[in-house]
Amino acid sequence: MTFHIITLFPEMFDSYLGESILKRAREGGFISVKFYNPRDFSADKHKTVDDKPYGGGPGMVMMVDPVLKAWEKAVSQNFVSKIFTHKKIKTYIFSPGGTTFTTQIAKHDAQEYSDIVFICGRYEGVDSRVKEITGAEELSIGGYVLTGGELPAMVVVDCMSRQIPGVLGKFESLEEERVSSHEMYTRPEHYTHKGKTFSVPEVLVSGDHKKIEAYKKGFSGN
Ligand code: SAH
Repeated sequence: MTFHIITLFPEMFDSYLGESILKRAREGGFISVKFYNPRDFSADKHKTVDDKPYGGGPGMVMMVDPVLKAWEKAVSQNFVSKIFTHKKIKTYIFSPGGTTFTTQIAKHDAQEYSDIVFICGRYEGVDSRVKEITGAEELSIGGYVLTGGELPAMVVVDCMSRQIPGVLGKFESLEEERVSSHEMYTRPEHYTHKGKTFSVPEVLVSGDHKKIEAYKKGFSGN
């Protein structure tokens, strides 16, 4: 899977995508992440990428042309994977009012597409004609407003990457298929804090696998 990220701030991604599982996934060739900065596609000498909104109102809006040029560059990169996998390309534009992102969407997209383009807004957002021209779907990561689409892009790349075979280790992927609980424990079995002892639920150390599965199911909502 190749993720194409259109952002004014590509450096924001360095630390998150450069550690742990996502780092391994990139090094192992399971995912690839490419960046396109609208500023590099700005036509004027000041590299302007935003302007005042028509109709008034506070803040600035990202202009059509630099974002669209960045998008055209991103979609032109995908022809190789398209030929070999016959998978499709999808474009999302981040917006607090868009479709709410879920694991279900991540699973679907990881199977369906070879390339996904993310357009990260900043300021008051992106000129609406970008959505119209690119056919992008608006995607939200929840009912709150952030200062930009970069965190949403990291959230979605993270979640979709876990759905790509080989990204999680064997152990972790097996866990994913099994009933798993969000209530979990590791050593020590008994932990004392300010004179009080906190113990692992007895069922988990009982060795009775049927009871353990039933206990986990009680928490998982599966
Ligand atoms: N005036 C806009 C808010 C812009 S926030 C409005 O009311 O819709 C700036 C940018 O941050 C947005 O363009 C979007 O790309 C991103 N963003 C903020 N919150 C988000 C969320 N919950 N989910 C996805 N993207 C978000």
